[in-house]
Amino acid sequence: THFGFETISEAQKEARVGAVFSSVASSYDTMNDLMSLGVHRLWKDYFVRSLNPGSRTDDKGWKILDVAGGTGDIAFRMLDHATNVNLDLNTKVTIADINPDMLAEGQKRALETPYGKSGRLSFMQGNAESMPSIPSDSIDLYTVAFGIRNFTNKDAALREAFRVLKPGGVFACMEFSHVNSSIFNAVYKRWSFAAIPLIGQLVAGDRDSYQYLVESIERFPTQEEFKAMIQDAGFITSGDGYEKLTGGIASIHRGIKP
Ligand code: SAM
Repeated sequence: THFGFETISEAQKEARVGAVFSSVASSYDTMNDLMSLGVHRLWKDYFVRSLNPGSRTDDKGWKILDVAGGTGDIAFRMLDHATNVNLDLNTKVTIADINPDMLAEGQKRALETPYGKSGRLSFMQGNAESMPSIPSDSIDLYTVAFGIRNFTNKDAALREAFRVLKPGGVFACMEFSHVNSSIFNAVYKRWSFAAIPLIGQLVAGDRDSYQYLVESIERFPTQEEFKAMIQDAGFITSGDGYEKLTGGIASIHRGIKP
């Protein structure tokens, strides 16, 4: 591959992923809009709506951990939904991310939302594979959106998600995935391999980072493989265990800690 990921150590991979996200942090939103033609906003809206945060009837609210929460896209939507749909002012979200530049971008952005100084939002720098500061059995909902494919050890991250969730707690992951239809796939592959690195070059002045992002999508397990990984970590999945969005360009996987 472009970065020769097969031949480098885990530490080197982590450093490169770090460099990619430091480089894209400030242009992150514009690039998401361009690369997905705006569709990532609809996916994120749907993801949050489907989880219905704050819907439980007791008045304690939910404790949500949004891992790889970067610039706050999921966390702000969670709090909006809890507040406006479920009239719940107690739900709290912790954003955890390994990258200080992405966190700084999220903190800056949080000040433009009603949650910046509400005490309902907190930020934590950390690696999803090991979050010792988060107690076991303490979280109602663990989310990770477009993050897990960047993790060096995905199984370790899934085990850590399992540990921090309360029994009955929900793991929910939205990630780029695989398209089944061969015609649609041909169009999509053309778009991602040709257009996305080019847009990265023109808009963000950074072709390599976007080349990496495209390659990391290609390497990510299929929907069925990823579902099996979630089950191996101890989660129960219901129905198919996942939902495809836009023909499989992205998928949502959910699991419950028994
Ligand atoms: N969740 C946000 C969204 O949907 O827009 C941000 C997704 S962004 C593509 C991926 C994020 O994963 C980056 O902010 C990156 O720093 C973070 N990340 C990568 N490896 C990580 C790890 N091992 N632990 C925690 N976060 C990680």
